[in-house]
Amino acid sequence: MTLKDFSNIKKLLETEHNIVIVTHKNPDGDAMGSSLGLYHFLNAYQQNVQVIVPNDYPSFLKWMPGHESVLKFDTQTEISEAQINNADIIFALDFNAFHRTGDMEKPLEKSKALKIMIDHHQEPEPFAKYMYSDVNMSSTSEMIYHFIDELDGLQHMNREIATCLYTGIMTDTGSFRFSSTTSLTHQVIAHLIDAGAKNSDIHNHVFDSNSYNRLQLLGCALSNLKVIPESRTAYITLSQEELNKFHFRKGDTEGFVNYGLSLENVVLAAIFIEDKQEGIVKISLRSEGNFSVNAMAREHFNGGGHINAAGGKSHLSLKDTVEKFISILPEYNKALNDE
Ligand code: 5GP
Ligand code: MN
Repeated sequence: MTLKDFSNIKKLLETEHNIVIVTHKNPDGDAMGSSLGLYHFLNAYQQNVQVIVPNDYPSFLKWMPGHESVLKFDTQTEISEAQINNADIIFALDFNAFHRTGDMEKPLEKSKALKIMIDHHQEPEPFAKYMYSDVNMSSTSEMIYHFIDELDGLQHMNREIATCLYTGIMTDTGSFRFSSTTSLTHQVIAHLIDAGAKNSDIHNHVFDSNSYNRLQLLGCALSNLKVIPESRTAYITLSQEELNKFHFRKGDTEGFVNYGLSLENVVLAAIFIEDKQEGIVKISLRSEGNFSVNAMAREHFNGGGHINAAGGKSHLSLKDTVEKFISILPEYNKALNDE
């Protein structure tokens, strides 16, 4: 995005518009943090703003300021469609292609609204008039901070915006430990704390709100963990039956994949989660160093993401998906062992 683009967007905000903010399916902390952070910022400009998500988000995010105003497309379809049709401006946050929004893809494609993308995923599709895409950014929430800065809007920074953006940056950086975390990220975080983000409370809300069932499910996942030493790979499976046994709720498996990566000498970790309702196996991939799980997800699992964190899906059975994964590993052995 050029300076001229930022100045055009700044002008747009001088008059009232119907603005819709959308994000990807199965919204995570960064999706919700960036969407709600931008929502609170735009409210300072007396805009008519609505956040719409494709489907529900985990309960560990259901304390974020403004979350109760969010529309869920899958259960509030009619009103969500009306808002999209009525929008003058649509912000597309934390995703790089309309299909990442599930059933919202069609209404978004049809919409005549001016579209602004703010995103840090690899290989963005050019669907927006204004594209602020930077794959080196830690999170879309950090980008929202820079976006606000470019619009000369930091004087509107408040506790709500700061809390939402802090949450998104914290979750997408694995609590500031992934290599995408820069000194600039920490400078942004410092400003957010100064603006009222209660860092310790936010960590508690997100990470210390486990249910007993979730911890039992983690125990099950860890006992299913397998290691393939020659490929420096670890993977976890969770069947629908296992999920049911521990009364799985959305978000319960968040972060499980990282346990594989915490093993000594492992540079690639995967988790395969059966979803009988959708008829798919959802896959999360994580890596250390230069090994690109984005490439692996794109090449084999209809997915994508970032170099060190990506996801995808398979329509095969859980067992066949794992077999496919094991069968493709040898083609990556050299790269994995060079890490
Ligand atoms: P997670 O494994 O936590 O679901 O996702 C890791 C990263 O990969 C996130 O940035 C997410 O947006 C991306 N991602 C997850 N699943 C998919 C998918 O099915 N398709 C694409 N293109 N990206 C995905
Ligand atoms: Mn993100």
